[in-house]
Amino acid sequence: MMDFHAHLDLFDDPRRLIREVDQLGIYVLSVTTTPSAFLGTRRLALGCRRIRTSLGLHPQLAAERLHELPLFDRLIGETDYVGEIGLDGSAEYKSTLHAQRKAFKHVLRTSENAGGRVLSIHSRGASLEVIETLKATTVLCTPILHWFTGLPRELSAAVDAGFWFSVGPAMLKSAGSRDKLSLIPRTKILLESDGPFARYDGQILSPRDTQLAIPTLSKIWGCDDDEVVDQLHTNLAQIGLKAKQGRQAA
Ligand code: MN
Repeated sequence: MMDFHAHLDLFDDPRRLIREVDQLGIYVLSVTTTPSAFLGTRRLALGCRRIRTSLGLHPQLAAERLHELPLFDRLIGETDYVGEIGLDGSAEYKSTLHAQRKAFKHVLRTSENAGGRVLSIHSRGASLEVIETLKATTVLCTPILHWFTGLPRELSAAVDAGFWFSVGPAMLKSAGSRDKLSLIPRTKILLESDGPFARYDGQILSPRDTQLAIPTLSKIWGCDDDEVVDQLHTNLAQIGLKAKQGRQAA
């Protein structure tokens, strides 16, 4: 199985979790929220062939971490994955949108200049602007919209642009999200937990819980669970994480 957006370093006991994830054979994109967290987070998963660590600057932290943009640029060569990045236009964070935009555009430019990266993107309260920014500034990158909460027409714009989506059990609980899921091509979907931030029935979600989303997908796609798992693994290989196993620790 897979978890294409987990904050492994922010769990209570990351080492125990990583051991478990490794033993279960789960492919994980271990996202970070600041450039200064990258090397330490990658070290946690040293030797785990199915875990990749991505270089991020979370929009909710962007305003206070603009000084880490030069560090982002220095580290870009260390990984094929960038995230968590993006914009957050929700009430709590919209006052920092100016700094967020500066950070987002900067990391996108760095990723493009480095030859393109797979991107895990936050777009809460700013779906349209995130989609438009990505369309205008990225050619070589592969954007994956994580926990997308935009309107159906915004989702369609992202689908038309060829973007990917990572979806999780918490997100699929609402009927509106399930309806939107049917608009995404099944070749462009990956699973995520967004743990330890996301919860399901009061429990913190971890990488092993992404499978809770499978019955919802099989219902929407009108096929059995095995077919869903096959499709998801095909997608994972397509995005490069599976095919590149063993290539490097990053
Ligand atoms: Mn996240």
